Amino acid sequence: MVFIIFILGIIFGSFANVLIYRIPKKISIVFPNSFCPFCFSSIKWYDNIPILSYFLLKGRCRSCNQKISLTYPLVEFLCGVVAVFCYLKFGIFEMWVFFNFLFVLLVISFIDINTTEIPDELSYYLIFSGILLSIFNSLLGKDLFSKIVNSLIGGLVGFFVSYLIAFFGEKIFKKPSLGGGDIKLFAAVGAWLGWGSLFKIIFLSSFFALVYIFLVSLYKKVKMWGKYIQFAPFISFSCLIYIFFIT
Ligand SMILES: [Zn+2]
Repeated sequence: MVFIIFILGIIFGSFANVLIYRIPKKISIVFPNSFCPFCFSSIKWYDNIPILSYFLLKGRCRSCNQKISLTYPLVEFLCGVVAVFCYLKFGIFEMWVFFNFLFVLLVISFIDINTTEIPDELSYYLIFSGILLSIFNSLLGKDLFSKIVNSLIGGLVGFFVSYLIAFFGEKIFKKPSLGGGDIKLFAAVGAWLGWGSLFKIIFLSSFFALVYIFLVSLYKKVKMWGKYIQFAPFISFSCLIYIFFIT
């Protein structure tokens, strides 16, 4: 079963790659079919098998021979792993609820890495679906996810606390510390995980960001302090840690 879940996860991962590439470019996500980002030739189904095709093609496009980024199989692999974790923790039905949340966070993270922006529509989707889920939750009496009041307060607290951090960060450091995209993302996290989760998520994501800054400055000997870093990957990773190891 774990293997089937992993395969399903990497198929979703393949779709994640489509979203990561197309949403910032405002290309339709259903049409046209997958194409090479260099020569625009469409990719045949047998060259579009998640993870496998990348290695069969030795990481190059069949028609123009350009190198395909390693992030494609990486995103697919990560989705597979996240799906398996969700399955092991929540079982075959409820896993999809959290897979949906973590899947969108993964897409947001890679878009943030590539473009330094977080698309509003993805944050709004998460805020909306988080509140919707909490309504179902309250109706069905489940305590696995946040209930409606907790979710609504969570969304608001997420928004205002990160807004305050952004506001005072800018005053203290004289430059933007948290972007508007991050603020909406914290609101989404609050709506999904409830307001009690937020302080842990904020703490964890700042901690991971600091570790990252420390390691990069140590390894590459470049000054990282004061440099702009994309924050969505750290928020997403913290949500993952929170869901699997803290709740
Ligand atoms: Zn090509």
